Amino acid sequence: MSEESNLSFRENTIIARGGGIFDSTGSVSAPIYRSATYVHDTLVHKKGAFYYSRCDTPTRRALEKQAAVLEHGEDALAVTSGLAAIDIVVRLFEPGDRIIVSNDLYGGSYRLFEQVYSRYGLKFDYVDTWNTAEVVKAITGDTKGIFIETPSNPMLRVSDIKALSKIAKGIGALLIVDNTFLSPLLQKPIDLGADIVIHSATKFLAGHNDVLAGLIITATQEMRDKLEFYVMSVGNALSADDAWLTLRGIETLSVRLLRQQENAVELSRFLKTLPGVKKVWYPGDEEHPDHELAERQQKGPGSMISFEVKDISKAPRYFERFKMIYQAGSLGGVQSLISIPNASLQCPIPKAQRDHTGVSDALFRLSVGIEDIEDLKNDLGQALDES
Ligand code: PLP
Repeated sequence: MSEESNLSFRENTIIARGGGIFDSTGSVSAPIYRSATYVHDTLVHKKGAFYYSRCDTPTRRALEKQAAVLEHGEDALAVTSGLAAIDIVVRLFEPGDRIIVSNDLYGGSYRLFEQVYSRYGLKFDYVDTWNTAEVVKAITGDTKGIFIETPSNPMLRVSDIKALSKIAKGIGALLIVDNTFLSPLLQKPIDLGADIVIHSATKFLAGHNDVLAGLIITATQEMRDKLEFYVMSVGNALSADDAWLTLRGIETLSVRLLRQQENAVELSRFLKTLPGVKKVWYPGDEEHPDHELAERQQKGPGSMISFEVKDISKAPRYFERFKMIYQAGSLGGVQSLISIPNASLQCPIPKAQRDHTGVSDALFRLSVGIEDIEDLKNDLGQALDES
């Protein structure tokens, strides 16, 4: 069979082909190269040749290339988790630099910024980045980066990537977008002007709650080369086995995510009919404050829903009543998972900041899976039953 470049196909085909025929064996699935080191019989290292697996492995490279194609980036790096990806990107900044960050964000990212990097002189300014004017107000002479989650975790606030990219370019700052909640199938931040896209590939990309992985996709090769230096120096590159699992997961991204999204659209409406539910946060819902921007910027509303129950005192009891939906952290996989962010992932964020964005003890976050919609409705209905 003669092999055409993946780039000549449409997106669903690129996703299904998993990166294309990988080597001269014709293997349809990328081989897992576990070798820690590679023979190089000349003293001078040949450019592009594999050397040592902390630096590069063929399996990881296949994943990186596929991620770059899907995100419309120039190149990518695969690391051990989403937080490892953020950690590597933050290493681009110098002591004294300020980074504007979304007020609503994954608590682990906040912990990394405030409890690790602030000790090394980096300063983080938390802003409602879904309000572009607030970002402009927060800029100082030391602002060197804007880091957004859009939609954000857990309030699903949507920030305007195009507008923020213009602002960042105007001051010579980098725009970094955490695209974990949508995946490249539903949003391509580089097309909208982002310099760097990061993913917790643990979530939608791998898709089966069976691997931890992170991806960094860069708009330029020069940026990838800079970041590769840190991955090689720090030693948090993704293993060949985990790169393979992630690559395998991506092959079904389009069918999984579209089914998850279809379920989420229906559940977002169903939740509003339950007497115990006070408010639903879903970008596909016309009442969501950023609905219009989400319609414009995203290819779909995604499959994450947050909702607030009326009686805060009943939240723990509701939580314990789920019979089918797993009460677990994480998101994006084929199984639906439910959590109370304040009891888990958002703990590192100060209460005042959580109160400001609306993350209360009555807030549930639901990652919708691919199960039968009737089973999902039944489980939510019985768990949140008032009686
Ligand atoms: N970014 C977002 C939006 C997340 O939700 C998470 C984890 O939940 C991360 C980054 C961190 O990813 P990982 O758990 O793979 O380190």
